[in-house]
Formats: sequence, C-alpha cells, structure tokens
Amino acid sequence: MTLPPNVHAAEPIPTAAKDAIEALMQSGDLFRYTAPQDAPVALLEAEFAELLGAKYALAVSSCSAALFLSLKALGLPRDARVLIPGFTFAAVPSSVVHADCVPVLCEVGDNYRIDIADFTARLDDVQAVIISHMRGHTSDMDAIMALCEARNIPVIEDAAHSLGTTWHGRNIGTIGKVGCFSFQSYKMINAGEGGILITDDADLVARAAIMSGAYEHNWKKHKGPNGAPEPELEAAFELWQNRLPLYNLRMSNLSAAVIRPQLPELARRVRDGLDNHDYVAGRLNSSPCFDVPAPLMPERRAPDSIQFNLVGMDEVETRAFVAAAEERGVKVQVFGLSADNARAYWNWQFLPEQVELPQTRAMLMKACDVRLPVRLTRAELDVIADILLASVGDVTGPMPVYGT
Ligand SMILES: *Cc1c(COP(=O)(O)O)cnc(C)c1O
Repeated sequence: MTLPPNVHAAEPIPTAAKDAIEALMQSGDLFRYTAPQDAPVALLEAEFAELLGAKYALAVSSCSAALFLSLKALGLPRDARVLIPGFTFAAVPSSVVHADCVPVLCEVGDNYRIDIADFTARLDDVQAVIISHMRGHTSDMDAIMALCEARNIPVIEDAAHSLGTTWHGRNIGTIGKVGCFSFQSYKMINAGEGGILITDDADLVARAAIMSGAYEHNWKKHKGPNGAPEPELEAAFELWQNRLPLYNLRMSNLSAAVIRPQLPELARRVRDGLDNHDYVAGRLNSSPCFDVPAPLMPERRAPDSIQFNLVGMDEVETRAFVAAAEERGVKVQVFGLSADNARAYWNWQFLPEQVELPQTRAMLMKACDVRLPVRLTRAELDVIADILLASVGDVTGPMPVYGT
C-alpha cells in the first residue's frame, strides 16, 4: 500500500538555478542595483511581465510587500477605506492597516468567492478594492470590474496563490490596475520568500519602485517592455524623485536566481495541478457528504490544494472527520475550526473595525482545505481520496450501496 504522501515537501528547484547561484556566490553580487544592467532581479521582472502579458513588473520581498506598495502607489489618503473579501489570508488586511488604510470586509459565498450583492452594497463607501483570489478561486471579475470602473475605484488583485489561473483566457493579475503574486514556498513558484507586482501603469510602477527602495538614480535600471528604455516610465520616475519615502522591500538577486528557472516549469505545474485537483474532486464528489464547488465558467484554475465543503455535518461530526483523517495520515484544515487560523476573519483582532459576516462564518465552519502539491502521483492522490472517504464514512456510517 502507498503511504500518505508528504504534502509539505516542495518540488526540487531546477538544476539551472545552481549555475546562476554559483555565479552569484563567486561575484558576491547579490544586490539588485549593483550591476549596470541585466541583474537577475531585472531579468526576472522583464521575463515575468512578458509571461503574464503586462507592461511592467516590480519584484519585491513578498506578496504582502507588493500589496502594501500597491496601496501606497495609488496615493490613497490616510484612513481611506479598502474593500477586501472576508475570506482571505491575514496578510491582506495587514497590508491595508500597514498602508494607514481601513479594511472593509465583504461576505464570501459557499464557493469561496466574493458575494457580489454584498460587495456592491459596500462599494459606495470605499476608495480602493483588493480582490483576493483565495486558494486560486476566482471571483466574478466581469461583475467586479464593471462595478468598480463605473465608480472609478481602483482594483488590486491579490493573486498570491493564483499564478497560472486564467479568466476568459487572460492571466489573473492582469485584470485589475495591479496584480500581486507570491513566491513563498507553498505557492506555484517557490523561492522561500518573495513577491512581484505587475501593472500597465507607468506612474504606479515608478512610485512603487521608488518606495520599494530604488533610491537616488537606481530607478534608471528599471526599463519598459522587453527591457527597452521608455520615455513615459522615465518621466514618471523623474516626477517622483525624492518625493516618496523608501520602505526598502527589494528582492535579492539570490531569490531571482531561484525563481527564473522555474518560470518555464509553470505551464506544466498548472496542467498537473489542475489534473490532480479535478481527479480528487471527482472522487470526493462521489460522496453526498462532500461538495467541491465548481469553477466559474470563464475560469481555468491552477490549484495546488483542494477545498471542499462538508454537507449536513455539525461541528462535532466535523471535528470527528478531521481527527479520523489525521489518524490515517491526511491533514484536513477546516478554516474556521483550527485554533488561531489566519484565514478566519474573527482572528484579525488588529482590525480597527470588527465585523460579523454570518455567511462567510458559516462557510468557514464547513470548508476543508487539503494540500495537493502538483508533483503527486495518481496512486498518492488515490491514497488521499481513499482516506478522506473512509474518514467521512467513520462519522456518518457506511455509504449506501445502490444496485445489486
Ligand atoms: C500567500 C498569500 C499571501 C501572502 O504572500 P507572502 O508572499 O507570504 O506575503 C497573500 N494572499 C494570499 C491569498 C496568499 O495565499
């Protein structure tokens, strides 16, 4: 029998990274702005922007840093209200608080996506929006963009966990004014830590780059599409020179050297992740106790985990299911039940305004999260699915057997 796989181990970093890192170790050139041109961070920015289909990219220390800089680059006044989903990672409201703004939470539905009616109801009172594509689940971006464009409200996409997801064939992160991604180890590309933002707005990227730590004339090493100099971008940098604080959230060349050889792996990881997810989803949906919400029509997902809701189970049964799965070697996280979970909004006690979101709370109490790293084999996926099905059977009794 195959043992439950280790779902926390990462895929090996491509060997091409070793040569790049060895060269950096020899030269000691780890700071992005020392080389006159073609530093690994600058090359990563050009490659990432091209891969995603954006004009500019700015690599930084984390996705949280990218979100913070995006808010600062929008020039929002102190105490501006920023609408975010009630289901996201604590880093998102944290970045809003860090930018001296006030997070406003909206309801999220049983399918982990923003409740558009509640979003609309809260929109007139806000100056910016962060859409968090939580665990890669894409909210209705057609509705969101129409609502925000009509009110001239800028949209930041938190695509930390959505790299490779598309909406109507377009990359997630290119739909709003700015898109932010993470290279933390549990995301599609792993550098341990790291983040990047993409945008088509020269003024926004110039402001973000200066605040990220492009002090003095280091901004001259930021280029336009294809690494070419661009008058619009240079004019924006000249305009903001010396007028913005430096937060020093830069990326190191070492991180870029680890990330760049993974970019060509992305398409395969997305394909394998989606195949694996849909295979396990099919098996789980065979039980009436599990519901894996379907994607929205324009969405093509890039999952490295699976989320599903428990159907008709109370809290005692839910805890018994989690314990039974754990006993067999599969860790199930119910977002609202695990102590101090960073994705349960009631644990964000640092928020200036506390809210109650009954619909989101109900979802968090039944939504299960299981990691499915893209490298898992069919046999390993079957072990996970078998354990989840057997564990729910322990709690609810054996599944009815139909037919002869
Ligand atoms: C991981 C994650 C973040 C934070 O990314 P860091 O790079 O660790 O700062 C933010 N939002 C979502 C949805 C995430 O999954």
